[in-house]
Amino acid sequence: MSLTFRLFLRLRIPHYVLRITHSFLTLSLLTAFLASCAQASTPAPTADINAASTQAMATLSNAITQTAQAPTAVPTETPTPTLALSTVEGPTIPRTPPTLPAGFTTSLLNPLDTPHTYITDTCQYLKARWDPNNAAPGTVVMVIMFHSILKPGDELSDYSQITSGAFEILMRDLHEQDFQAINTSQLADFLERNAKIPPRSVLLLVDDRKDRYYFDTLFYPYWQQYGWPVVNAWLSTPLSSADLWQQQVDLEAEGWVDHQAHGVVHNIGITSSSTDDFIMSEMKGSIDAFQTHFNKKPIAYIWPLGWFTAHAAQIGRQLGYQLGFTINPRGPLMFDWIPLSDNPDPQRPSYMPEGSVNDPLMVLPRFWSYDADRHIDDVRVIGREAADYAAANKATELEYYDIVCAPDYGPIPVATP
Ligand SMILES: [Zn+2]
Repeated sequence: MSLTFRLFLRLRIPHYVLRITHSFLTLSLLTAFLASCAQASTPAPTADINAASTQAMATLSNAITQTAQAPTAVPTETPTPTLALSTVEGPTIPRTPPTLPAGFTTSLLNPLDTPHTYITDTCQYLKARWDPNNAAPGTVVMVIMFHSILKPGDELSDYSQITSGAFEILMRDLHEQDFQAINTSQLADFLERNAKIPPRSVLLLVDDRKDRYYFDTLFYPYWQQYGWPVVNAWLSTPLSSADLWQQQVDLEAEGWVDHQAHGVVHNIGITSSSTDDFIMSEMKGSIDAFQTHFNKKPIAYIWPLGWFTAHAAQIGRQLGYQLGFTINPRGPLMFDWIPLSDNPDPQRPSYMPEGSVNDPLMVLPRFWSYDADRHIDDVRVIGREAADYAAANKATELEYYDIVCAPDYGPIPVATP
């Protein structure tokens, strides 16, 4: 049986039934529809069609089973002689949308870090999720924070650093495991509407005020070889020299270094006692500096020191920021799936819980460079588990979409070349 035909049966019948069962009067129409359906399929000459018919009946009998459990009052009618007809006499038929599966979870996260969703409109989510032109379910992003990549020979003295050798191994492993680097706009489009990105993506985020030499020696080779961009979480202090600013302007203009906002004063983090003036001077101050120097508006705010508040996140939204990044290494990102914590964790006291911000996209987690390499396998497996879970639930989600969403949101788009 062709996939097209099977989909047609599964999708078409509930949709039709949905529209015509708004009153009991129309039940007779349904009877006629199903009867004609049965008549048409009974003498069908090919095995394919019979199989399709069997499938349709199986769908209907499932519906009967569900219906039988429903407490809805049923107008008792004359008993009918066949399975198909007794289906017709049922009160709710297959128009009841299936229960959507629970969201994907994985044992590969810390138990206190739970996936947080942010798309409140289920239909919008399902349409973006199953649009074949979008990112496939299981598409996963690893965000890695770099503070200090040491010179060859230098030893690690704190966890914000990574040795040059470990950096090369990390980049090699990412490449060998089929990761590809993306820029911030690609990440925003993916997280907001599931826009297509490589199935395993990485956002390389360099914090603070690194000069051109740092980017040229460490990251340019990956741009040359693989086309990997790098993000510069740039601290817009007016204390930077004109020369350092010009280096950044040149890097931005070359197209491979994507500057995003990392505050102005930077060494003072935002807390619940920060004034609005201070928050604005950091967050809007960054935007003003970017517009002056780069002629661009940043879309991401990398919270200095990793400190944030719900109030500052709201101000950031009003200023037009689409994404925010903490320093909490909780796990990878997927569409409508951000691992965050709702409570402080005594085992990890420096990780500020993000749940109460109630805006996951403004508090995105980042892996730390020194041990990111050890998490690559987990990230890959999480992506694969999520893809498998989505595949197992695809039929249910599409049936739900067809019954509940399609009348208002239109059909799931078809693939365009
Ligand atoms: Zn910083």
